[in-house]
Amino acid sequence: MIDKILIANRGEIALRIWRACKEMGIKTVAVHSTADSHLMHVKLADESVCIGNAPATQSYLNIPAIIAAAEITDTVAIHPGYGFLSENAAFAERAEKSGFIFIGPRPETIHLMGDKISAITKMTQLGIPTVPGSNGPLSKDAAEILKTAAAIGYPVIIKAAGGGGGKGIRVVHSEATLLHAIEITRAEAKTNFHNDTVYLEKFLEHPRHIEIQVLGDGKGQAIHLGARDCSLQRRHQKIIEEAGTLNINAEALADIAQKCVDAAKTMHYRGAGTFEFLYQDDHFYFIEMNTRVQVEHPVSEMITGVDIVQEQIRIAADLPLSLSQDQVLFDGHAIECRINAEDPKTFMPCPGKILDFHAPGGPGVRVDSHLYADYTVPPFYDSMVAKIITWGKTREMAIARMRTALEETVIEGIKTNIPLHQRLLQDANFIKGEFDIHYLSKMI
Ligand code: ADP
Repeated sequence: MIDKILIANRGEIALRIWRACKEMGIKTVAVHSTADSHLMHVKLADESVCIGNAPATQSYLNIPAIIAAAEITDTVAIHPGYGFLSENAAFAERAEKSGFIFIGPRPETIHLMGDKISAITKMTQLGIPTVPGSNGPLSKDAAEILKTAAAIGYPVIIKAAGGGGGKGIRVVHSEATLLHAIEITRAEAKTNFHNDTVYLEKFLEHPRHIEIQVLGDGKGQAIHLGARDCSLQRRHQKIIEEAGTLNINAEALADIAQKCVDAAKTMHYRGAGTFEFLYQDDHFYFIEMNTRVQVEHPVSEMITGVDIVQEQIRIAADLPLSLSQDQVLFDGHAIECRINAEDPKTFMPCPGKILDFHAPGGPGVRVDSHLYADYTVPPFYDSMVAKIITWGKTREMAIARMRTALEETVIEGIKTNIPLHQRLLQDANFIKGEFDIHYLSKMI
């Protein structure tokens, strides 16, 4: 077994990884920026190393500093979490070349899936349905672009090949604004992702976001842990996720899950991965693959009992998957609310000192959070400060428990989006399970 893991992340996911390591008897190294020395996992880890200044470019994205920290602490493996360097093929490669185990897919796989166009091409080869679109990079020729868009049919969505996290996406409703919108998206993509390649997809009017969680052993074995609905989003950022009874055509779901498993087997996929789809009128359309653990992984854990982070570590240690597909038993329903430090009305980030903190509890309640009273949420990073997850035998029970959990939660000193969650949890359409990816922004 791997004997020491460096956690190349911060916040709740760093704590989540620390917990998995602790349970497995693995020693941990926390790396942190100068703004993060008071993070919960930094205090709990066996060792900690400050890797740079507060801005992520100088710390959590600073590859030489992280590799150096791994070297001086005699680390065996590096867990990248999500965000930051988790989908950076150059980091994975650098880690492996320096003699460390990268807890994630092979660098080639990350590279292939990191470019959304090459990912779509690969999925098409593997028999996975994709969204009708430009089927490749958009030409720079205006006439050619207009022809492609007309063939797809408006509205269309412009996407940056290197995009992620809801950035580098723009919807266009008519020919009049297309060329200008492409120009802006290209410029933004160049600044943010150092790649101005963009492509077009048909903009689907009322899809749900449904994704399939897979685990692959890197040698041709793979299983899936079912689907998650992540349709409730604001600005393409997920707010609430669910797993369990999702009201999806059973045949279509079984078929797509099998296709994802087959694809993972064919690719000799290594580690945890998520195939993301839009689902509309009983059809699935692939949009992208995430080659890492996702924020919303706990809802799958709650309905299957599988510890996804521990599976990632086992796979990295070259052990077989701890269960076969037949042994994956789905039970009940789980919901996750992402609690962000932000103004519930303006959505402006709201960092600051936590004056009081009380986490909810009781049966079927899980809280993944690094918060504690007196902790100061720094302004430099993502605003998510907690994930509250509830489980119930039925969706109704999971919702009832979430309402109770949100009521119990105390976070004093900063504003959070809990009021927004409470509003959603009372919303008639949410309760009926009748919503698509556009629902939340319309509601707001
Ligand atoms: P990112 O990598 O930035 O998360 P995705 O390609 O996964 O980008 O898309 C993010 C979100 O944008 C999706 O969950 C969905 O809500 C919306 N979206 C993406 N593609 C389409 C499309 N073709 N039609 C309608 N909405 C889309």
